[in-house]
Amino acid sequence: MKELHTGQLYWPTTRSDSRPYPALKEAATAQVAIIGGGMSGINCAYAFSTAGLDTLLVERGEIAEGSTSANTGMLQYCNDTMLCDLIDQIGKTNAQLFYKRCLQAVDELEQAAASLPVSVGFKRRSSLYFASTEQDLPKLRKEYEALREACLPVEFWTADEIAKHFPFKKPGAIITHGDAEVNPFHFVNTLADAAAKAGARLHEHTDIVRHEKLPDGRHRLHTSRGHTIDADYIVCAVGYEPEELRSKLVQSNMNRSYSIVTQPMPEPLLKQWHQQWLIWETARPYLYMRTTEEGRIIAGGLDEGIEQPVHSEEILRKRGEQLLDKIQSLFPDWPLAIEYRWNATFGESRDNLPFIGEDPALPGVYYSLGYGGNGTVYSMIGARTILGLLQGEYASHPLPFIGIRTSATS
Ligand SMILES: Cc1cc2nc3c(=O)[nH]c(=O)nc-3n(C[C@H](O)[C@H](O)[C@H](O)COP(=O)(O)OP(=O)(O)OC[C@H]3O[C@@H](n4cnc5c(N)ncnc54)[C@H](O)[C@@H]3O)c2cc1C
Repeated sequence: MKELHTGQLYWPTTRSDSRPYPALKEAATAQVAIIGGGMSGINCAYAFSTAGLDTLLVERGEIAEGSTSANTGMLQYCNDTMLCDLIDQIGKTNAQLFYKRCLQAVDELEQAAASLPVSVGFKRRSSLYFASTEQDLPKLRKEYEALREACLPVEFWTADEIAKHFPFKKPGAIITHGDAEVNPFHFVNTLADAAAKAGARLHEHTDIVRHEKLPDGRHRLHTSRGHTIDADYIVCAVGYEPEELRSKLVQSNMNRSYSIVTQPMPEPLLKQWHQQWLIWETARPYLYMRTTEEGRIIAGGLDEGIEQPVHSEEILRKRGEQLLDKIQSLFPDWPLAIEYRWNATFGESRDNLPFIGEDPALPGVYYSLGYGGNGTVYSMIGARTILGLLQGEYASHPLPFIGIRTSATS
């Protein structure tokens, strides 16, 4: 079991009334058993139960307390790999298809959020993707042309246009329309309640320790307390711990990313941040930032190639200050102070695409592993794709390039 974050998280402080779900205390059966109660698992539970599938979900800890609670809640269709690079990687047709599918997933997340009885902080926002240096400008222009050719909703802003809308100067930026923000912790907990209402059985404090293939082709999961779950299909939405069920399953790199949240900013200052757009940049690792419903700034970055989140208060404080300096350089007159800071494990696949689909070695076992900076968008693609595959909607995977890649298949 991995430690996924250290420090003080912000999102769990915005919600005090999460409903507890009982641990599994007896043998159970289901059509689909989902392992993992984060963004990916709960999106599946909601999609499956509302589509009428007999669904059971188990979570080792509590709903949304894994990397979902450390997430910055930026929902963007542009990925860590620029479209112009993805075209070189998987071809123009597939790359454009993938980017368009990501934009559609933001719409699907909006529909899911709108179906909930309370607001979960979902708001459509545009994004400002600025060139970190003059040297990055030609690449940014190339990316703009690639996005435009794919008919995605984009603009290119010059340095003057940026300076008219923000208190900082940058050489140029792509503006993507159609992105969004959400409170990921509130969203996932509220969606879990909606899934339960639609008939999904949710069990917290239920740890799956073993999987067994039954002679009739079905699957049996064993919990650490000695109970079993028999299911036609298994969906592993286990986040950054896929090796627990089958070692060396996916090809991924584990890093850690730092995040901070400032105190709420006065309304007149927030007006200097054009329409509360999401902001990120071409540098790698990149700074990513947005505002919250309370007028705070939440920002992340300074990624390091180390899996284990940091325990040193001193390093956490130092990195927090570095992030704050980066924000301060963009908004020099703002009285910024850090109120929350944390460090979290962050998984990236080696080709920067998620892992969504059936295990090539275990028919009936599916994975929804949204590795990369767009994990929430991928979790929706995972839920809808796996539902379609279970319901026989497609003859084969609609986006085969995001299927399960192992050392054996690559
Ligand atoms: C600092 C940071 C910022 C991020 N910002 C963004 C962002 O702005 N936008 C975005 O889209 N994405 C972002 N992400 C990525 C996003 O957080 C993740 O992709 C997403 O939350 C993953 O959700 P998940 O459900 O796959 O994983 P998790 O939330 O980790 O859920 C997996 C769950 O599975 C459970 N589990 C694992 N093994 C077992 C087992 N054997 N039995 C029972 N339960 C088990 C775990 O306890 C865990 O709760 C960010 C990530 C980090 C770390």
